[in-house]
Amino acid sequence: MAIRILVGVKRAIDYAVKIQVKTDKTGVVTDGVKHSMNPFDEIAVEEAIRLKEKKIAQEIIAVSCGPAQCQETLRTALALGADRAIHVEVSGKDYEMLQPLAVSKLISAIAKKENVDLILLGKQAIDDDSNQTGQMVAGLLSWPQAVFASKVDIKDKQAEVVREIDGGLETIRVKLPAVITADLRLNQPRFANLPSIQKAKKKPMAKMSPKDLGVDIKPHLEYLSYEEPPKRQGGGRVSSVDELISKLKEKGLI
Ligand code: AMP
Repeated sequence: MAIRILVGVKRAIDYAVKIQVKTDKTGVVTDGVKHSMNPFDEIAVEEAIRLKEKKIAQEIIAVSCGPAQCQETLRTALALGADRAIHVEVSGKDYEMLQPLAVSKLISAIAKKENVDLILLGKQAIDDDSNQTGQMVAGLLSWPQAVFASKVDIKDKQAEVVREIDGGLETIRVKLPAVITADLRLNQPRFANLPSIQKAKKKPMAKMSPKDLGVDIKPHLEYLSYEEPPKRQGGGRVSSVDELISKLKEKGLI
């Protein structure tokens, strides 16, 4: 029996954009800034598509929680190969304060409603670097988790997952339903081609609110301040190894 997969896709500031902190330090500038699908989520979507191509998966549901623009991110997931999309609309101040616990509750509620066998997420969102959602979704659902996956094999409702850990690899087996989060080396995501972008426009996209899912998205922590990293000072040139050593000694570095 083929499985059903939920893939989480977050709309995040594009990885190539230089982040700017707002002058009042309450957040980062997002207006007029290029956004894209979180890169680890592209890898999660790719993994789901490969499972469908191998006939292990029968359906891929892409989910994004955030403002109206998340529908563009969902359309990208549909163009890549997801079958349908669910947009949980959270905008304005609510979105600014949307935290991983709330997202985890939303994703868990959809997973239960849709009766999925596998939740594939990115290991972390590159904007907030939280690395919490996969773990919390697994906790909320009491499902096993295999995070930081660099290889996934699914057979007989079990997943064998290779995980990148300090200094090596760990292979674990989890029973489905389970949560898997994608690490960088899991796969190389494909690009969407024009015909699939056109086809994606006709794929179903449902819209719902946290209330429809019975989820309270109240924040549990308060952001106090954002700072840019200190500016790097320019380097200098030395004319010999002896000069380099005496400079390093002068600075107390050796
Ligand atoms: P984080 O715990 O915020 O680092 O996010 C880890 C993963 O959870 C991301 O790579 C996404 O797959 C998923 N995720 C986080 N936020 C959202 C969101 N707003 N909508 C959909 N998926 C999300």
